[in-house]
Amino acid sequence: MFKLVLLDIDGTLIHSAGAGSEAFCKVLEFGFQKEPHALREKSFAGRTDSSLLSEVFEEYEIPDIEANRKKFWEIYPHFLHHYMPRFPGERLDGAEQFLQAFYRWNPRPVMGLLTGNIRLGAEIKLRHFGMWSYFEMGAFGNEHALRTELSSLAKSKAERLLGEELRGDQILVVGDTPSDIQAAKHIDARCLAVCSGEYSQTMLEDHSPDWTVQRLSEVYPTPLEFNGY
Ligand SMILES: [Mg+2]
Repeated sequence: MFKLVLLDIDGTLIHSAGAGSEAFCKVLEFGFQKEPHALREKSFAGRTDSSLLSEVFEEYEIPDIEANRKKFWEIYPHFLHHYMPRFPGERLDGAEQFLQAFYRWNPRPVMGLLTGNIRLGAEIKLRHFGMWSYFEMGAFGNEHALRTELSSLAKSKAERLLGEELRGDQILVVGDTPSDIQAAKHIDARCLAVCSGEYSQTMLEDHSPDWTVQRLSEVYPTPLEFNGY
């Protein structure tokens, strides 16, 4: 039975409808005096904020130094907070019921985030939809540029919280991109892929997740359903 459940945010729990990428653009515009036209076309799916920022700094010829990163991440949350209510984002179908279901498990698994968002970005997005309080820990995009490293980090944080080592089959990772599936495999965790983001079922199944669903409303996770895990 799962002792740790790790969820991705964008495309899995919520759609922020471009509020995050608009906030990225505004930081470039107002913090760094750049015209971020090309950035509006970039896909953020499955990416970590740290790796996106390295790429953006390179594209806009901004020195990738600590002072610029610090400046970027100080301004970004203000714009994100501003844009979240102004973009037509949504809580994804069944996401909240899916989270609530684990709160009925006895013993309840640790509920964590495994996301490319910086911690404050994750908090702003999930608070906007009333879902931040479901999570007691997480690994975030400000902690590493690689999602595979974030899954190892999330596992070790949860182990500290639980006071025991976890086997891969005691961990469930839920996400909407091939990067989420790879992050799950990196720690030998089980992976539920959900097609509510930019990737189709066929594209996700190419990466061999353990289960694939169109939306989280199709699953009501019970310990019985995951018997043997
Ligand atoms: Mg995602």
